[in-house]
Amino acid sequence: MKRTGILFQIVLSLALAALLVAFVVGDFSQRYEGNRLRDQLTEQAGLTVSLLSGLMLESIIVEDVPVLETGLHEAVSRNPKLLSIQILNADGHLIAAVEREQVNGKEEFVTYEQSVELEGFKFGTMIVQWSMRDGQLMVQQRVRHMIMWTVLSVAVLSVLVLVLVNMLALRPLRSIHTRMSDAISGVVSHRTSVPWYASREFWALNYSVGVLEDAFAERNEREHALQEACKAADIANRAKSEFLANMSHEIRTPMNGVIGMAELILDTELDEDQQMYAETISKSGSALLTIINDILNFSKIEAGKVELDNAPFNLQVAIEDVVTLLSPRATMKGVEITLRYAPDLPEFFTGDVGRVRQVVTNIVGNAIKFTSTGYVAIDVSGAKGPKGYQLGIEVLDTGIGIPEERLDDIFSAFEQVDSAATRSFEGTGLGLAISSRLLSLMGGRVTVKSVAGKGSVFTIRLPLTECDAVPSVQEGDFDFKGLTCLIVDDLELNRSILSERLTSWGVQCFQAESANRALELLADLRLEKCHLDFAILDYQMPVTDGRELAKCIHKIPEFAQVPIVMLSSVEQAMARSVREVENICEIALKPLRASHLRQVINRVLNVGELPSIPSLPKSEPEVKTQYKKLLIAEDNRTNQLVVTRMLKNDNYEITIAGNGAEAVELFKKDRPDLILMDMMMPVMDGVEATLKIRELEAVAHEAGCPIIALTANALEAHKEKCLAAGMDDFLSKPINKKSLLETLEKWVIQQDRREKTGTWSH
Ligand code: ADP
Repeated sequence: MKRTGILFQIVLSLALAALLVAFVVGDFSQRYEGNRLRDQLTEQAGLTVSLLSGLMLESIIVEDVPVLETGLHEAVSRNPKLLSIQILNADGHLIAAVEREQVNGKEEFVTYEQSVELEGFKFGTMIVQWSMRDGQLMVQQRVRHMIMWTVLSVAVLSVLVLVLVNMLALRPLRSIHTRMSDAISGVVSHRTSVPWYASREFWALNYSVGVLEDAFAERNEREHALQEACKAADIANRAKSEFLANMSHEIRTPMNGVIGMAELILDTELDEDQQMYAETISKSGSALLTIINDILNFSKIEAGKVELDNAPFNLQVAIEDVVTLLSPRATMKGVEITLRYAPDLPEFFTGDVGRVRQVVTNIVGNAIKFTSTGYVAIDVSGAKGPKGYQLGIEVLDTGIGIPEERLDDIFSAFEQVDSAATRSFEGTGLGLAISSRLLSLMGGRVTVKSVAGKGSVFTIRLPLTECDAVPSVQEGDFDFKGLTCLIVDDLELNRSILSERLTSWGVQCFQAESANRALELLADLRLEKCHLDFAILDYQMPVTDGRELAKCIHKIPEFAQVPIVMLSSVEQAMARSVREVENICEIALKPLRASHLRQVINRVLNVGELPSIPSLPKSEPEVKTQYKKLLIAEDNRTNQLVVTRMLKNDNYEITIAGNGAEAVELFKKDRPDLILMDMMMPVMDGVEATLKIRELEAVAHEAGCPIIALTANALEAHKEKCLAAGMDDFLSKPINKKSLLETLEKWVIQQDRREKTGTWSH
């Protein structure tokens, strides 16, 4: 709202006051002047009547009418204010009267009546009507003048008041206001002072503003100091994370030696004690490494160095990956792990799949860690909102639970519910702190509900935007509509997840919680002449297990040919021979991924052969016949030894370079098939050496030799640096034998394929 200025308000008030005064003065003077006029006219009339009655006394006494009328005519014609004169005798009878003809209709007049007396004896009465017209005009004029003067003087007074208000109030107020706004906006004030004539109150206000100004200045100084301190802290923090990264490099290098050598010792002939010692070294080393990774991860997040790498990904596959990774751990503890992915939830979203996996792995990993009996159930669902999907990933366990008063603490760094209890569970207390910070970075959060001794439910809420499907090699056409299936599992959760998934594909499902119930159901189906396309049986069930049930099913003539999928966990994996003898079509490892389930059903139904997903145990790599020349550029003696020993039994002809420059020289001479390149080396580092090697290849028009970076630095930036320099892959230290062999094998296979097809480029 636009506010009016105080000057305008004063002018308006004064104008109203002037109007009021003019009205009051006008009314008052009108009355006053009217009364005064009446008095004057009465006086004049009195005088005239006295004069006339003196002159006409005799004629009145004798009632000489003609003389009287003549006299009266004379008097009326000479005095224009006289409207009429009447003379009454002593008895009150009219003896003579004269009336002037009125020009303007009725005029206002005053009537004056006086008795005609002589020496106390009354002879008659004279009545005179005296015109007020002239007098009224005069009165009006006077009133007008009066109003005019009043308005004029009020106006002059107002102007005077305005000038005074402006000088005494507004000007000091304005200068105080300017000073105050300067102080608020942080402009250095020129200390504009109030005028010398300003009143005491304004000086007091000005003084208070001065105090405020000082307070603001002090605050600004403090803010500035704070900003400086923040900058310094930021620099220190950056230095800290650099230090941590370097430290992690320093720690990882010897750790590489410890873990690598322990693994090598484990490969040799050992007695029981030695085996136990070596295993302890290896496990402790791995545990220490996890702690280092956690701390590094946490300090990276704290330093605000984590950047999200958003890209389209398959959420279902990502979560299934986590379950696959963790299920051996669950199986080992006898804990069932289930995954339900809501059928109506899309599979493809845009987000940082690595971070999503990290968070889910941590929470599911905890659930398994803190559960000794029962199950861990993961439920993924979501609701579509205006800005995309709001995912809900619920991880429920039947483990030790968390006391209510500790529920808030567990998300803080280094917090563990009970140090006595956690001593039996390894961990840094950083997992949930990292997860909740990563989630808030992605716009989500994690909450927990728990009952001590009963179990916990962790719920991840995460907003993600849906995206178009990314084509995958494992996707295939399938149409299971109209098929019927029997699901037998003692765990209700497993049954409902399976049946929900299959129902969403159009399969009609019959469920049974035990072998007996399943056989009853089959008997009913038989009676109703219902067809069964396939059955999914859990291997491990109380009373009658899946294997027995399969035999029973195949004994029923109508169902003798029903293909059976046996669900088993790694621990209770069935031998292939059993499977063949007992006519079990497929064995699927729990927990079952949707894509795997699809493939298994496809296979048992012979609907179409899909490329099978890599199964356990892995098939032998085809390429292993020929020796491959491997150049290892690594300055650390222990690491040279570890890698060489790890590859001892494989078909590699190893050459070692102590630094980057040596590596380039050896490359020129030998042209190796593969290079393992350490990042940090004296004389010439890995990045520079890679650049040089790539240059040499470009000059000679050669295909690129796969270069795999070996680095103790776990920061993402370093990985990018390696790849940008032209390296092909990345192995982080401490190197573990399995990943070293797998990586080398992968590149050997690729290289062989390249040789066959002749395609390779950088
Ligand atoms: P840690 O490395 O100790 O697992 P986390 O930050 O992941 O660290 O977890 C912090 C603490 O929260 C754990 O030490 C444990 O006491 C408690 N906690 C986490 N998840 C569970 C769970 N599923 N059941 C019971 N306690 C849990």
